[in-house]
Amino acid sequence: MRAFRYARASDPGAAATMVAGTPDAAYLGGGTNLVDLMKLGVLRPGLLVDVSRLPFDVVDHRPDGGVLIGGAVRNAGLVRDEGIRRRYPAVARAVLAGASGQVRSQATVAGNLLQRTRCPYFQNTGTPCNKREPGSGCSAIRGAHRDLAVIGTSDACVASHPSDLAVALAAYDAVVEVRRPDGIERLVPLRDLHRLPGDTPWIETVLEPGDLITGVQLPAPPEGALATYRKVRDRWSYAFAVVSVAAVLRRGAGGRLDEVRLALGGVAPKPWRLRATERLLTGTDPTDDEVRAATRAGFADARPLPDNAFKIDLAADLVAAVLRDLRGAGS
Ligand SMILES: Cc1cc2nc3c(=O)[nH]c(=O)nc-3n(C[C@H](O)[C@H](O)[C@H](O)COP(=O)(O)OP(=O)(O)OC[C@H]3O[C@@H](n4cnc5c(N)ncnc54)[C@H](O)[C@@H]3O)c2cc1C
Ligand code: SF4
Repeated sequence: MRAFRYARASDPGAAATMVAGTPDAAYLGGGTNLVDLMKLGVLRPGLLVDVSRLPFDVVDHRPDGGVLIGGAVRNAGLVRDEGIRRRYPAVARAVLAGASGQVRSQATVAGNLLQRTRCPYFQNTGTPCNKREPGSGCSAIRGAHRDLAVIGTSDACVASHPSDLAVALAAYDAVVEVRRPDGIERLVPLRDLHRLPGDTPWIETVLEPGDLITGVQLPAPPEGALATYRKVRDRWSYAFAVVSVAAVLRRGAGGRLDEVRLALGGVAPKPWRLRATERLLTGTDPTDDEVRAATRAGFADARPLPDNAFKIDLAADLVAAVLRDLRGAGS
C-alpha cells in the first residue's frame, strides 16, 4: 500500500475544508470498502479524512412520522433501532442481508450508499475497465458479467450497484442530506444520487468534490404499509445480491393493491425502481402470473448480456413471491 495521511475530523466544516482543499483526499467512513480498494491499488488517496466520529450518528424519529438517519450511524446500530425494525422492516432486513456482523459494526450508512461496484474487473488493476481507467474499455461485456446489470447500462459499463441498504431506502423514497464544502445544505432524493454510466461510468453520483453526506431522511411509511426485503444470493453470507427486491405496499378493499413500491438490487447501476410495474399492479389484485408479467414489462428497456439475461425471469419470480408473502401477511 502507498503511504497516505490520516486526519480525524472534529466537525463537518473542518472535514470539508480538508477534503475540498486537497485534490486527492477522500472521506473515510468505516473504511470497509475504501481501504479494501486501497489495498488492491484501485484507489490511491493521499489523505483520508475520518468522518465516522462526527455527530451524525443518531437515528432520530421525528414528530411528523419520518426519521432522520445520521450518515455516521453504523449499519449494525441502524438495525438495533427498534423504530426502524418496526416501521421500516425492509430497511432492517436489507441491512441484515448484507455483509457480516463484523462488517456491519464498522460500516456507516453514508459509506454504504457510496460503496463501489463489485465488478471483478474494476477491482483488478491488470484488466481494462472504463470505470477505473477512463477510455481503457470494458472487460465485462465480453467477459464475466453474470453478476452485473441488465438495465440502465451502456456500451461503456454494465456494472451493478452493490448496496442492499440503498435498495430498501429507494422503496421508502428516501432523501439524502448533503453538506457542501461552503456549508450549504442540499437535499438529494436517493433516486437521483447515483448516476447511470452513459459515456462517463467513472462519475457515479451527483455529489461534487468535498460534498459530505450527513444523513438520510425517510418519510413516514404509508399508513398500514406492509414491507419486506428479500435477496437472492449464491451463498448465505458474504455474498452480494444476484437479484434483490424491496417491496412496500398497501392493500385496500377486496385485496386490491392501493399502493405498490418496488425497488430492485443486483440488476442495475443504481437501486432500480420498477415504475412501470408499480403502475401496472396498482389498483389490481393480481395473480402470481400477472405479477410476473408486470415485472417483465418493467424490464422493457433492459439490455441483458448472454450470461445475465436470467436475472429478468429471476426478478419476476422474486417479485411474485414477495408480493404473495406480503399479501398473506396482511390478511
Ligand atoms: C466481506 C464483505 C461483504 C460485504 N457484503 C455486502 C453485502 O452483501 N451487501 C452490501 O450492501 N454491502 C456489503 N459489503 C459492503 C459494505 O457494506 C460496505 O463496505 C460498507 O457499507 C461501506 O461503508 P463504510 O462506512 O465502511 O464506507 P467506506 O469504505 O469508509 O467509504 C466508502 C465510500 O464512501 C465515501 N464516504 C464515506 N462516508 C462518507 C460521507 N459521510 N460523505 C461522503 N462520502 C463518504 C468514502 O470516501 C468512500 O468513497 C460487504 C463488505 C465486505 C468487506
Ligand atoms: S462493467 Fe464497468 S466496472 Fe466492470 S469492467 Fe466494465 S467498465 Fe469496468
